[in-house]
Amino acid sequence: MYHLECIECHKRYKATEIIYTCSCGGLLDVIYDYSSIHLTKNDLKGRLSVWKYRALIPVGREPITLNEGGTPLYRVDRIAKSVGLKDVYVKHEGMNPTGSFKDRGMTVGVTKALELGMKTVACASTGNTSASLAVYGAKAGVPAVVLLPAGKVALGKLAQALMHGGKVLCIRGNFDDALKLVRDLCDKEGFYLLNSVNPYRLEGQKTIAFEIADQLGWEAPDRVVLPVGNAGNITAIYKGFKEFKRLGIIDSVPKMTGIQAEGASPIVRAIKNDADAITVESKPETIATAIRIGNPVNAIKALIAIRESGGTAETVTDDEIIRAQHELASFEGIGVEPASASSIAGLRKLARMGLIDKDEKVVCVTTGHLLKDSEHVLSVCPKPIEIDATIEAVRKAVFAGS
Ligand SMILES: *Cc1c(COP(=O)(O)O)cnc(C)c1O
Ligand SMILES: [Zn+2]
Repeated sequence: MYHLECIECHKRYKATEIIYTCSCGGLLDVIYDYSSIHLTKNDLKGRLSVWKYRALIPVGREPITLNEGGTPLYRVDRIAKSVGLKDVYVKHEGMNPTGSFKDRGMTVGVTKALELGMKTVACASTGNTSASLAVYGAKAGVPAVVLLPAGKVALGKLAQALMHGGKVLCIRGNFDDALKLVRDLCDKEGFYLLNSVNPYRLEGQKTIAFEIADQLGWEAPDRVVLPVGNAGNITAIYKGFKEFKRLGIIDSVPKMTGIQAEGASPIVRAIKNDADAITVESKPETIATAIRIGNPVNAIKALIAIRESGGTAETVTDDEIIRAQHELASFEGIGVEPASASSIAGLRKLARMGLIDKDEKVVCVTTGHLLKDSEHVLSVCPKPIEIDATIEAVRKAVFAGS
């Protein structure tokens, strides 16, 4: 009931084919026969989870799952007040099994790998994709090969990939180099590629949109703001909202708003320059390692998502990211890694520029958990205070400066 289709030349491929991009080089999308899908709000009662939306997930076999999805949607009034808006929510994807939204894509992608009879799965990663692939590879009992940019991966993510048994290779190069290499490796060795160029990953990630609609009482927000790296997630979430609208479950689709770090912002520049394609950045740099990407594979899809939905894209500085990370943590109790905080930093900047209406209902997606990158946390927080083990010393320290 579905096939793969090129977004450029519209060539079709059977769902049984192992293919990641069209022969013309274009990105592929999973296309359903929507007239045969009957899904109502009534069918969607009960606990949230990725596999609850099976009618819109292109997999036939039993899923490889660790109960991904069902992440909280928090109303964040203190943040809202501080940025001058009224109705702001945070969808905290750091609450997935491995601490990032990548799990939604991997549960679907690894299940698909088994369905296609693939024996080894592989990816390039800035960290979270490798952690997630190692975990789902372990659960499925298939080897996971992960290529990382040496010295540029947050320790928590590396620890996960190692402990869960991934074959971890650190390459001397950046993420874009690693991705090029792993695509070649998968072609030559017959490994199954699970980067977000693989359209099945995005089919899992689109469930973020389904859950937001459900959590808001079967309504789309006016705007969704999220960090953009390879630009798979913004594409996936947009597709999710469009599908729910098409099936009559919601009435509108939010303005998709992508945030990038100033030092890694090819999508923002393409949007601002009204360009049809991005200009690759050869030396992307930002503290937000998860979005330290100069050549986003899903750029063309993301540009369409942003433009069609009437959204926008904006950059934020590393200082703005760190400030937003602190605000989420100390105003709202939400612990996120730097890349995730860029959504709040972007919200603040766009609100200040007057580009977000005060009455808009906005959902910011926080993509990964604070504990992923504790080295960064320790480098930007005050040092713990070491004292003697006496009540006097404790009291002195507690009341110091007050
Ligand atoms: C992967 C990732 C992103 C970027 O998502 P894309 O789909 O590549 O745009 C952002 N934040 C975190 C924490 C991630 O792990
Ligand atoms: Zn094509």
